[in-house]
Amino acid sequence: MTSNFPLLHDLKIGLAELECQHLRRYRRIVASAQGPRIQVDGQTLLNFCANDYLGLANDARLRAAAALAVGQYGVGSGASHLVCGHQAPHEALEHAFAHFVGLPAALGFSCGYMANLGVITSLLGRTDAVFADRLNHASLNDACVLSRAHFHRFPHNDLLTLERQLAQSNARRKLIAVDAVYSMDGDLAPLPGLLALAERYNAWLYLDDAHGFGVLGEGRGSLAHWQLVSARIIYLATLGKAAGSAGAMVAAEPTVIDWLLNNARTAIYTTANPAAIAAASLAAIQAIEQDSWRREQLRARIAQLRAGLMDSTYCLAESITPIQPLLLDTSEQALALSQSLWERGLWVAAIRPPTVQTPRLRITLSANHSEADVNALITALAELAPSLGEPR
Ligand SMILES: *Cc1c(COP(=O)(O)O)cnc(C)c1O
Repeated sequence: MTSNFPLLHDLKIGLAELECQHLRRYRRIVASAQGPRIQVDGQTLLNFCANDYLGLANDARLRAAAALAVGQYGVGSGASHLVCGHQAPHEALEHAFAHFVGLPAALGFSCGYMANLGVITSLLGRTDAVFADRLNHASLNDACVLSRAHFHRFPHNDLLTLERQLAQSNARRKLIAVDAVYSMDGDLAPLPGLLALAERYNAWLYLDDAHGFGVLGEGRGSLAHWQLVSARIIYLATLGKAAGSAGAMVAAEPTVIDWLLNNARTAIYTTANPAAIAAASLAAIQAIEQDSWRREQLRARIAQLRAGLMDSTYCLAESITPIQPLLLDTSEQALALSQSLWERGLWVAAIRPPTVQTPRLRITLSANHSEADVNALITALAELAPSLGEPR
Protein backbone atom coordinates (compact mmCIF):
# COMPACT_ATOMS: atom_id res chain seq x y z
CA MET A 1 0.00 0.00 0.00
CA THR A 2 2.65 2.51 1.05
CA SER A 3 5.28 1.41 -1.46
CA ASN A 4 3.31 3.07 -4.24
CA PHE A 5 2.49 6.09 -2.07
CA PRO A 6 5.79 7.99 -1.97
CA LEU A 7 4.51 10.70 0.39
CA LEU A 8 4.02 8.19 3.21
CA HIS A 9 7.17 6.26 2.31
CA ASP A 10 9.18 9.43 2.80
CA LEU A 11 7.82 9.95 6.32
CA LYS A 12 8.46 6.32 7.24
CA ILE A 13 12.11 6.68 6.27
CA GLY A 14 12.32 9.84 8.38
CA LEU A 15 10.86 8.08 11.41
CA ALA A 16 13.19 5.10 10.96
CA GLU A 17 16.15 7.50 10.89
CA LEU A 18 15.02 9.08 14.16
CA GLU A 19 14.73 5.61 15.68
CA CYS A 20 18.30 4.74 14.63
CA GLN A 21 19.63 7.94 16.19
CA HIS A 22 17.74 7.23 19.44
CA LEU A 23 15.74 10.38 18.80
CA ARG A 24 12.28 8.99 18.09
CA ARG A 25 9.67 10.18 20.60
CA TYR A 26 6.82 8.27 22.20
CA ARG A 27 4.18 9.15 24.76
CA ARG A 28 3.15 7.27 27.89
CA ILE A 29 -0.46 7.22 28.97
CA VAL A 30 -0.97 8.51 32.50
CA ALA A 31 -4.07 7.20 34.27
CA SER A 32 -3.99 9.45 37.34
CA ALA A 33 -3.76 13.08 38.39
CA GLN A 34 -0.35 14.74 38.45
CA GLY A 35 1.63 14.16 41.66
CA PRO A 36 4.78 12.57 43.10
CA ARG A 37 3.19 9.16 42.46
CA ILE A 38 1.60 8.60 39.10
CA GLN A 39 -0.17 5.65 37.45
CA VAL A 40 1.37 4.56 34.15
CA ASP A 41 0.85 1.30 32.28
CA GLY A 42 -0.81 -0.25 35.34
CA GLN A 43 2.22 0.64 37.49
CA THR A 44 2.75 3.31 40.17
CA LEU A 45 5.85 5.36 39.46
CA LEU A 46 7.69 8.03 41.40
CA ASN A 47 7.46 11.06 39.15
CA PHE A 48 10.50 13.32 38.62
CA CYS A 49 9.58 14.91 35.31
CA ALA A 50 6.58 17.18 35.86
CA ASN A 51 6.78 20.98 36.05
CA ASP A 52 4.27 20.93 38.91
CA TYR A 53 6.96 22.44 41.17
CA LEU A 54 4.66 23.45 44.01
CA GLY A 55 2.41 20.37 43.82
CA LEU A 56 -0.67 22.47 43.00
CA ALA A 57 -1.88 20.62 39.87
CA ASN A 58 -4.19 18.40 41.93
CA ASP A 59 -4.66 20.78 44.89
CA ALA A 60 -8.09 20.70 46.57
CA ARG A 61 -8.48 24.51 46.36
CA LEU A 62 -7.82 24.59 42.62
CA ARG A 63 -10.14 21.64 42.04
CA ALA A 64 -12.91 23.29 44.05
CA ALA A 65 -12.49 26.64 42.25
CA ALA A 66 -12.65 24.95 38.85
CA ALA A 67 -15.67 22.85 39.82
CA LEU A 68 -17.52 25.88 41.19
CA ALA A 69 -16.82 27.84 38.00
CA VAL A 70 -18.01 24.93 35.83
CA GLY A 71 -21.27 25.06 37.78
CA GLN A 72 -21.64 28.78 37.08
CA TYR A 73 -20.11 29.16 33.60
CA GLY A 74 -20.30 25.68 32.09
CA VAL A 75 -17.29 24.38 30.20
CA GLY A 76 -16.73 26.20 26.90
CA SER A 77 -16.15 29.97 26.80
CA GLY A 78 -18.01 30.08 23.47
CA ALA A 79 -15.98 32.80 21.74
CA SER A 80 -12.77 34.79 21.66
CA HIS A 81 -12.13 37.41 24.36
CA LEU A 82 -12.89 40.28 21.95
CA VAL A 83 -16.25 38.85 20.90
CA CYS A 84 -18.20 37.47 23.88
CA GLY A 85 -15.84 34.95 25.52
CA HIS A 86 -14.24 37.27 28.12
CA GLN A 87 -15.99 36.12 31.30
CA ALA A 88 -15.71 37.54 34.81
CA PRO A 89 -13.04 35.02 36.02
CA HIS A 90 -10.81 35.93 33.03
CA GLU A 91 -11.03 39.62 33.95
CA ALA A 92 -10.47 38.96 37.67
CA LEU A 93 -7.41 36.82 36.88
CA GLU A 94 -5.78 39.57 34.82
CA HIS A 95 -6.14 42.05 37.68
CA ALA A 96 -4.98 39.60 40.35
CA PHE A 97 -1.98 38.53 38.29
CA ALA A 98 -0.81 42.07 37.51
CA HIS A 99 -1.11 43.02 41.17
CA PHE A 100 0.73 39.87 42.31
CA VAL A 101 3.76 40.40 40.05
CA GLY A 102 3.83 44.15 40.66
CA LEU A 103 3.09 45.38 37.14
CA PRO A 104 0.29 47.76 36.14
CA ALA A 105 -1.71 45.61 33.69
CA ALA A 106 -1.98 42.09 32.29
CA LEU A 107 -3.50 40.13 29.42
CA GLY A 108 -4.41 36.44 29.37
CA PHE A 109 -3.40 34.01 26.61
CA SER A 110 -4.45 30.39 26.13
CA CYS A 111 -0.91 29.12 26.74
CA GLY A 112 2.68 30.27 26.93
CA TYR A 113 3.50 29.19 23.40
CA MET A 114 0.73 31.39 22.02
CA ALA A 115 1.69 34.29 24.30
CA ASN A 116 5.26 34.26 22.99
CA LEU A 117 4.07 34.17 19.37
CA GLY A 118 1.54 36.94 19.99
CA VAL A 119 3.75 39.34 21.93
CA ILE A 120 6.82 39.19 19.71
CA THR A 121 5.02 39.23 16.37
CA SER A 122 2.85 42.17 17.40
CA LEU A 123 5.78 44.22 18.67
CA LEU A 124 8.28 43.52 15.87
CA GLY A 125 8.35 43.56 12.08
CA ARG A 126 10.87 43.58 9.23
CA THR A 127 12.55 46.84 10.23
CA ASP A 128 13.11 45.71 13.83
CA ALA A 129 15.58 43.44 15.62
CA VAL A 130 15.29 40.81 18.31
CA PHE A 131 18.20 39.66 20.48
CA ALA A 132 17.78 36.19 21.93
CA ASP A 133 19.76 33.81 24.14
CA ARG A 134 20.82 30.60 22.39
CA LEU A 135 19.13 28.47 25.05
CA ASN A 136 15.75 30.21 24.79
CA HIS A 137 12.65 28.05 24.69
CA ALA A 138 11.52 26.79 21.28
CA SER A 139 8.38 28.93 21.40
CA LEU A 140 10.46 32.11 21.72
CA ASN A 141 12.61 31.05 18.78
CA ASP A 142 9.54 30.35 16.67
CA ALA A 143 8.10 33.72 17.64
CA CYS A 144 11.29 35.52 16.60
CA VAL A 145 11.31 33.80 13.20
CA LEU A 146 7.62 34.48 12.65
CA SER A 147 8.04 38.20 13.47
CA ARG A 148 10.38 38.60 10.44
CA ALA A 149 12.60 40.89 12.56
CA HIS A 150 16.39 40.59 12.31
CA PHE A 151 17.09 37.65 14.59
CA HIS A 152 20.33 37.90 16.59
CA ARG A 153 21.18 35.00 18.87
CA PHE A 154 23.89 35.40 21.50
CA PRO A 155 25.76 32.63 23.38
CA HIS A 156 24.10 31.60 26.63
CA ASN A 157 24.13 34.45 29.18
CA ASP A 158 26.88 36.26 27.23
CA LEU A 159 26.23 39.96 27.89
CA LEU A 160 29.38 41.09 26.07
CA THR A 161 28.26 39.57 22.77
CA LEU A 162 24.75 40.89 23.32
CA GLU A 163 26.12 44.38 23.86
CA ARG A 164 28.15 44.18 20.65
CA GLN A 165 25.05 43.05 18.72
CA LEU A 166 22.97 45.87 20.21
CA ALA A 167 25.62 48.48 19.47
CA GLN A 168 25.88 47.38 15.82
CA SER A 169 22.15 47.32 15.19
CA ASN A 170 20.37 50.25 13.61
CA ALA A 171 16.96 48.62 13.81
CA ARG A 172 13.97 50.87 14.42
CA ARG A 173 12.72 48.89 17.42
CA LYS A 174 14.85 46.52 19.52
CA LEU A 175 13.72 43.77 21.83
CA ILE A 176 15.83 41.51 24.06
CA ALA A 177 14.03 38.19 24.68
CA VAL A 178 15.17 35.60 27.22
CA ASP A 179 13.94 32.82 29.46
CA ALA A 180 14.26 34.19 33.01
CA VAL A 181 14.90 30.58 34.12
CA TYR A 182 16.22 28.25 31.40
CA SER A 183 13.79 25.39 30.97
CA MET A 184 16.25 22.57 30.27
CA ASP A 185 19.18 23.88 32.35
CA GLY A 186 17.50 25.42 35.37
CA ASP A 187 19.91 28.35 35.57
CA LEU A 188 18.89 32.02 35.67
CA ALA A 189 19.32 34.78 33.11
CA PRO A 190 21.33 37.74 34.51
CA LEU A 191 18.33 40.06 34.50
CA PRO A 192 19.95 43.16 36.08
CA GLY A 193 22.69 43.12 33.40
CA LEU A 194 20.12 42.56 30.66
CA LEU A 195 17.99 45.45 31.91
CA ALA A 196 21.04 47.73 32.02
CA LEU A 197 21.76 46.89 28.36
CA ALA A 198 18.11 47.38 27.41
CA GLU A 199 18.31 50.85 28.98
CA ARG A 200 21.62 51.74 27.35
CA TYR A 201 20.41 50.73 23.88
CA ASN A 202 16.76 51.69 24.29
CA ALA A 203 15.38 48.19 23.87
CA TRP A 204 12.37 46.37 25.25
CA LEU A 205 13.16 43.51 27.65
CA TYR A 206 10.87 40.49 27.25
CA LEU A 207 11.09 37.91 30.03
CA ASP A 208 9.64 34.42 29.73
CA ASP A 209 9.29 33.34 33.37
CA ALA A 210 7.57 29.98 32.73
CA HIS A 211 9.83 28.34 35.34
CA GLY A 212 10.36 31.22 37.77
CA PHE A 213 6.77 32.22 38.50
CA GLY A 214 5.53 30.55 41.69
CA VAL A 215 9.05 29.46 42.64
CA LEU A 216 11.36 32.49 42.80
CA GLY A 217 10.82 35.82 44.59
CA GLU A 218 8.42 34.42 47.22
CA GLY A 219 6.35 33.06 44.34
CA ARG A 220 6.04 36.41 42.55
CA GLY A 221 8.66 35.29 40.07
CA SER A 222 11.94 36.53 38.64
CA LEU A 223 11.17 40.26 38.78
CA ALA A 224 10.70 40.04 42.54
CA HIS A 225 13.74 37.74 42.85
CA TRP A 226 15.96 40.36 41.23
CA GLN A 227 13.91 43.33 42.52
CA LEU A 228 13.54 44.84 39.08
CA VAL A 229 11.10 47.55 38.06
CA SER A 230 11.05 49.14 34.62
CA ALA A 231 8.50 50.36 32.09
CA ARG A 232 10.51 48.58 29.37
CA ILE A 233 9.92 45.13 30.86
CA ILE A 234 7.29 42.85 29.34
CA TYR A 235 6.76 39.86 31.60
CA LEU A 236 5.31 36.43 30.76
CA ALA A 237 4.29 33.77 33.26
CA THR A 238 2.74 30.49 32.22
CA LEU A 239 0.17 28.96 34.54
CA GLY A 240 0.57 25.28 33.60
CA LYS A 241 3.78 24.77 35.59
CA ALA A 242 4.21 25.89 39.22
CA ALA A 243 0.68 27.37 39.21
CA GLY A 244 -0.72 23.90 38.48
CA SER A 245 -3.38 25.25 36.08
CA ALA A 246 -3.20 26.22 32.40
CA GLY A 247 -2.83 29.34 30.27
CA ALA A 248 -0.42 32.27 30.36
CA MET A 249 -0.39 35.90 31.46
CA VAL A 250 1.58 38.81 30.03
CA ALA A 251 2.06 41.84 32.27
CA ALA A 252 3.46 45.24 31.33
CA GLU A 253 2.59 48.95 31.06
CA PRO A 254 -1.12 49.49 30.25
CA THR A 255 -0.21 50.87 26.81
CA VAL A 256 1.66 47.67 25.97
CA ILE A 257 -1.27 45.56 27.15
CA ASP A 258 -3.69 47.65 25.09
CA TRP A 259 -1.41 47.23 22.06
CA LEU A 260 -1.36 43.45 22.54
CA LEU A 261 -5.15 43.35 22.96
CA ASN A 262 -5.42 45.07 19.58
CA ASN A 263 -2.57 43.38 17.72
CA ALA A 264 -1.54 40.02 19.18
CA ARG A 265 -3.08 37.58 16.72
CA THR A 266 -2.83 34.61 19.09
CA ALA A 267 -4.99 36.53 21.58
CA ILE A 268 -7.45 37.83 18.99
CA TYR A 269 -8.12 34.85 16.73
CA THR A 270 -8.63 32.14 19.31
CA THR A 271 -11.36 30.98 21.66
CA ALA A 272 -10.91 32.07 25.28
CA ASN A 273 -9.81 29.37 27.73
CA PRO A 274 -12.68 27.97 29.83
CA ALA A 275 -13.62 30.27 32.73
CA ALA A 276 -13.00 27.30 35.04
CA ILE A 277 -9.32 27.40 34.09
CA ALA A 278 -9.17 31.10 34.95
CA ALA A 279 -10.94 30.41 38.26
CA ALA A 280 -8.42 27.66 39.07
CA SER A 281 -5.59 30.03 38.18
CA LEU A 282 -7.00 32.65 40.56
CA ALA A 283 -7.03 30.04 43.33
CA ALA A 284 -3.45 29.12 42.34
CA ILE A 285 -2.23 32.70 42.78
CA GLN A 286 -3.73 32.71 46.27
CA ALA A 287 -2.10 29.37 47.07
CA ILE A 288 1.26 30.58 45.73
CA GLU A 289 1.04 33.65 47.96
CA GLN A 290 -0.13 31.81 51.10
CA ASP A 291 1.84 28.54 51.01
CA SER A 292 5.41 29.69 51.52
CA TRP A 293 6.01 26.26 53.11
CA ARG A 294 5.82 24.78 49.61
CA ARG A 295 8.83 26.80 48.49
CA GLU A 296 10.68 25.88 51.71
CA GLN A 297 9.95 22.21 51.15
CA LEU A 298 11.10 22.52 47.53
CA ARG A 299 14.36 24.20 48.57
CA ALA A 300 15.00 21.37 51.05
CA ARG A 301 14.45 18.71 48.34
CA ILE A 302 16.75 20.56 45.90
CA ALA A 303 19.50 20.75 48.55
CA GLN A 304 18.98 17.08 49.40
CA LEU A 305 19.33 15.93 45.78
CA ARG A 306 22.42 18.03 45.14
CA ALA A 307 24.09 16.86 48.36
CA GLY A 308 23.16 13.24 47.59
CA LEU A 309 24.82 13.32 44.15
CA MET A 310 27.78 15.50 45.11
CA ASP A 311 30.24 12.65 45.63
CA SER A 312 28.97 10.58 42.69
CA THR A 313 30.37 10.37 39.17
CA TYR A 314 27.30 12.18 37.84
CA CYS A 315 27.50 15.69 36.47
CA LEU A 316 24.61 17.76 37.80
CA ALA A 317 24.37 21.17 36.11
CA GLU A 318 24.63 24.26 38.34
CA SER A 319 21.05 25.16 39.33
CA ILE A 320 19.19 26.57 42.34
CA THR A 321 15.78 25.86 40.79
CA PRO A 322 13.65 22.67 40.81
CA ILE A 323 15.10 21.88 37.36
CA GLN A 324 18.17 19.71 38.07
CA PRO A 325 19.71 18.42 34.82
CA LEU A 326 21.98 15.39 34.95
CA LEU A 327 24.26 15.78 31.94
CA LEU A 328 25.27 12.75 29.85
CA ASP A 329 27.46 12.13 26.82
CA THR A 330 25.05 10.49 24.42
CA SER A 331 21.34 10.21 23.70
CA GLU A 332 21.73 6.46 24.00
CA GLN A 333 23.09 6.85 27.55
CA ALA A 334 20.27 9.21 28.47
CA LEU A 335 17.67 6.78 27.17
CA ALA A 336 19.29 3.77 28.85
CA LEU A 337 19.53 5.50 32.23
CA SER A 338 15.95 6.73 31.97
CA GLN A 339 14.87 3.16 31.09
CA SER A 340 16.80 1.62 34.02
CA LEU A 341 15.22 4.12 36.42
CA TRP A 342 11.82 3.29 34.96
CA GLU A 343 12.42 -0.39 35.68
CA ARG A 344 13.07 0.62 39.30
CA GLY A 345 9.79 2.54 39.47
CA LEU A 346 11.19 6.04 38.88
CA TRP A 347 10.16 8.29 36.01
CA VAL A 348 12.80 10.79 34.85
CA ALA A 349 12.61 12.06 31.27
CA ALA A 350 15.57 11.80 28.90
CA ILE A 351 15.94 15.07 26.94
CA ARG A 352 17.85 14.79 23.69
CA PRO A 353 18.73 16.84 20.62
CA PRO A 354 17.27 18.86 19.03
CA THR A 355 15.62 20.05 22.27
CA VAL A 356 19.07 20.38 23.87
CA GLN A 357 22.64 20.03 22.59
CA THR A 358 23.88 17.94 25.53
CA PRO A 359 21.73 14.86 26.22
CA ARG A 360 20.48 14.74 29.79
CA LEU A 361 18.03 13.48 32.33
CA ARG A 362 15.89 16.45 33.27
CA ILE A 363 15.13 15.81 36.93
CA THR A 364 12.40 18.06 38.31
CA LEU A 365 11.46 18.31 41.95
CA SER A 366 8.17 19.22 43.58
CA ALA A 367 7.13 20.50 46.99
CA ASN A 368 5.05 17.33 47.25
CA HIS A 369 8.09 15.03 47.04
CA SER A 370 9.01 13.59 50.43
CA GLU A 371 12.54 13.18 51.72
CA ALA A 372 12.12 9.41 51.13
CA ASP A 373 11.10 10.05 47.49
CA VAL A 374 14.29 11.98 46.77
CA ASN A 375 16.35 9.39 48.65
CA ALA A 376 14.88 6.69 46.40
CA LEU A 377 16.12 8.62 43.36
CA ILE A 378 19.60 9.17 44.83
CA THR A 379 19.91 5.47 45.73
CA ALA A 380 18.76 4.26 42.32
CA LEU A 381 21.16 6.64 40.54
CA ALA A 382 24.03 5.47 42.74
CA GLU A 383 23.29 1.84 41.86
CA LEU A 384 23.20 2.66 38.15
CA ALA A 385 26.33 4.82 38.04
CA PRO A 386 28.77 1.96 37.16
CA SER A 387 26.69 1.03 34.09
CA LEU A 388 27.56 4.41 32.57
CA GLY A 389 31.30 3.75 32.47
CA GLU A 390 33.81 6.56 32.81
CA PRO A 391 32.57 9.70 34.56
CA ARG A 392 31.80 12.63 32.35
C1 LIG B 1 6.53 25.55 28.86
C2 LIG B 1 7.15 26.80 28.32
C3 LIG B 1 6.46 27.63 27.45
C4 LIG B 1 5.12 27.26 26.88
O1 LIG B 1 4.12 27.44 27.83
P1 LIG B 1 2.77 26.59 27.64
O2 LIG B 1 1.80 27.30 28.50
O3 LIG B 1 3.10 25.21 28.10
O4 LIG B 1 2.43 26.65 26.19
C5 LIG B 1 7.04 28.83 27.09
N1 LIG B 1 8.26 29.16 27.51
C6 LIG B 1 8.99 28.37 28.33
C7 LIG B 1 10.33 28.80 28.78
C8 LIG B 1 8.45 27.15 28.75
O5 LIG B 1 9.16 26.34 29.52
